[in-house]
Amino acid sequence: MSVTRRTATNVLLDTALKNFYGAAEEMRLSEDLIAILGNSERRLEVSVPVEMDDGSIHVFKGYRVQHSTAIGPAKGGIRFHPDVDVDECEALAMLMTWKCSLAGIPYGGGKGGISCNPQVMSPKEKERMSRAFAARIAPIVGTWKDVPAPDVNTGGQEMVWFMDTISKMHGQVEPGIFTGKPISYWGSKGRTAATGYGVATCGLELLKVVGKDPKDIRVAIQGFGNVGQYTALTMEEAGAKVVAISNTRGVYYSPKGIDIKKALAYIEEHPRERLEGFTCDGCEKIDDIVSLDCDMFFPCALEGVVNAKNADQVKAKWIVEGANGPVTPEGDEILDKRGIIVVPDFLANSGGVIGSYFEWAQDLSGYFWPEDEYNKRLMHIMKGNFKLVWDYAQSKKIKMRRAAFMAAIQRVADVVRLRGVFL
Ligand code: NAD
Repeated sequence: MSVTRRTATNVLLDTALKNFYGAAEEMRLSEDLIAILGNSERRLEVSVPVEMDDGSIHVFKGYRVQHSTAIGPAKGGIRFHPDVDVDECEALAMLMTWKCSLAGIPYGGGKGGISCNPQVMSPKEKERMSRAFAARIAPIVGTWKDVPAPDVNTGGQEMVWFMDTISKMHGQVEPGIFTGKPISYWGSKGRTAATGYGVATCGLELLKVVGKDPKDIRVAIQGFGNVGQYTALTMEEAGAKVVAISNTRGVYYSPKGIDIKKALAYIEEHPRERLEGFTCDGCEKIDDIVSLDCDMFFPCALEGVVNAKNADQVKAKWIVEGANGPVTPEGDEILDKRGIIVVPDFLANSGGVIGSYFEWAQDLSGYFWPEDEYNKRLMHIMKGNFKLVWDYAQSKKIKMRRAAFMAAIQRVADVVRLRGVFL
């Protein structure tokens, strides 16, 4: 069967489809499998009526897309943002399929959200909206069907509202349907640090395979939030010199190395200033971190920060993508030509979803692990996944991003083939 390739007006979905078709063709995946995996199993749109604080009713639009449940329940976040639409959800659901597959965890890919502006809503309005949305998607989510998690503008509180609503509908506690819950209510120790810890683990594994000692390495970290902070801390603990950290307030640079524990303590003492006013030995504020002279660069803030305009100025030899999509496809091509190795986002930041899997596993057994157990298991999986992608890339003489894509697609395709067409 010859398949017409799908295209989309939504840029994110169009890119996700192009990336999939490109990798699938290079792998010589059969046209039947391309047809199955190039489409989503389910694209659900729901109306979410909410009584606002002034007594008026506003009907929001919500979505949940399940791209694939071939390997297991769909997994992926729920975001609250004005730009959310069904195509964006489908693109992100597809990426979740590949991310979970590469991570080697028993999930497919899903994503959802509500088109809304949570910044202008009161906590009570957000609660009513979250509960109404949970009730609307209840028929298709479940411990063994689809397990959502936090995403942009959602967190532990929203997960509790979702879980509580569905638990009430089912007449029993349902901890396995949502992950990212607070530790006090079926959440897991270790989750906060998981993504950054995994990102740094990839950086350290890369140094191992290229034969470098972390003690000889200068590191720069863009973004000093959840991912950046734990990446910085783990790299420092491994002996690397963190010469720059940055946030929206600027880039803090010291050739002597920044004491990360001191920076974290500063943030704790001055939560509103972020890093404004922070100083250290030899510290100065500089303009740009992307072109900084360092060995390993961790972009852990935003998408598209290394692009066609600045990729030729990158001085780092290695980039580990903590954020989602920090290197554009054009930037990637330039880096590749210059021999700069990039550890792709859906390998490097998969510690977050692996951590969600650990939470789900603990909820199912009703037995919670100590934090060191969590970290030990996370590190074991991250190291194995890094090796898988590195070896695949070396054997096929391709870059790590393409290798990660191909390995991920292959695993899903193998399961579809095993299970047959009627999934
Ligand atoms: P966060 O909000 O905790 O931190 C983001 C940091 O980036 C903040 O320090 C902010 O000041 C900084 N920042 C924003 N704009 C910047 C700019 N222009 N220059 C420099 N710094 C800037 O977010 P996070 O949870 O650390 O997530 C960061 C990235 O990692 C996002 O792309 C997110 O999608 C991705 N990610 C996060 C997780 C997770 O578990 N937190 C998992 C996978 C992927």
